[in-house]
Amino acid sequence: MSLDESRDADFATRAIRAGQSFDPTTGSVIPPVYLTTTFVQDGIGGFRGGYEYTRGGNPTRTALETQLAALEGGDRAFSFASGLSAEDALLRALLAPGDHVLMGNDVYGGTHRLVNRVHVPWGVGLDTVEMGELDAVRAALTPETRVVWLETPSNPLMKITDIAAVAELAHANGAIVVVDNTFASPYLQQPLALGADVVVHSTTKYLGGHSDVLGGAVVLNSGLEVRGEDLADRVGFIQFGVGAVSAPMDAWLTSRGIKTLHVRMDRHSANAQAIAESLVGHPKLAKVYYPGLPEHPGHELAARQMRSFGGMLSIELHDADAARRFAESTELFQLAESLGGVESLVCYPSEMTHASVRGTALEVSPAVVRLSVGIEGVDDLMSDVLDTLARV
Ligand SMILES: *Cc1c(COP(=O)(O)O)cnc(C)c1O
Repeated sequence: MSLDESRDADFATRAIRAGQSFDPTTGSVIPPVYLTTTFVQDGIGGFRGGYEYTRGGNPTRTALETQLAALEGGDRAFSFASGLSAEDALLRALLAPGDHVLMGNDVYGGTHRLVNRVHVPWGVGLDTVEMGELDAVRAALTPETRVVWLETPSNPLMKITDIAAVAELAHANGAIVVVDNTFASPYLQQPLALGADVVVHSTTKYLGGHSDVLGGAVVLNSGLEVRGEDLADRVGFIQFGVGAVSAPMDAWLTSRGIKTLHVRMDRHSANAQAIAESLVGHPKLAKVYYPGLPEHPGHELAARQMRSFGGMLSIELHDADAARRFAESTELFQLAESLGGVESLVCYPSEMTHASVRGTALEVSPAVVRLSVGIEGVDDLMSDVLDTLARV
């Protein structure tokens, strides 16, 4: 393995170089976007570099998958058209009727909806649990539990789950642990090294980083057996057989975004930390949810498990009206779904990102507002938040 893809190389080196070798025919420093659906064969079955048809493989997608595997420290990565299609492919590869999925009670609403509305009707069992409470997790595991699915930090209350501890419990029960690492990104948190079996991403968020391309990924190591087959091979087969692959231009944009991930994440974390600290004790707020604050219940665990605390922060106002007014009147923070881009966004979870889980155990308080802190000037961002609070 070359230095640029080696797990020993610094994260920044891997982010910029893994899978991104220059084009050998022209010397083009940036690998080209292979906007082609099919590949000429040198005689029947004579594939150049193994490429036959773009649903099965495309060099631009390979470049991204190599980069993703190198960043998460996994052997294999598969890139998809969206985060949810990546999750669906993984779940199809893992589950059979009768299997049970145990999910954190604060996972991304769309993940819960996917399993609850698509997989449960095909005979899969689903329960949610407070993933940070190990006794509750132990009690919720059943002999049928094949998958334990968690997100840390969680959305939107930034709860922190001990990945290593949950992995130990799940493994003792014969279950596979999946971590949705979208909020932290591989720069801040390495779930595979902490004992998780599979990492999934919505690359739409921090990995892409510029709010301009949808995508998803599954990263894992070879050697995990599911019903006598290698799980990575099964995911690869579903990617090919179902076909929710990243298009070449999407893969290229995501690779381009990843090259600055480490620099962006450092600034996202620094900006969010400064804003969170400036909001502690603010009279208009009932609570600030940010794992970088020493009073956050998951602070010490997050400090052990993460490089820094990330760009997501939530605030709780005193009532729903104030929260709505806040979300609708910031200036720099733009009211929109999604997160993880260089520009700051504000979201009103109970009616936006978490509308699909209203009335379920995953419901979010209508007094909570979520901020995706971007990398604009921190003084400008802080003024925007404080000025808006003064008005609501
Ligand atoms: C956005 C998101 C998803 C879904 O990804 P899409 O790219 O929108 O399909 C999954 N998990 C988390 C944590 C997310 O934020």
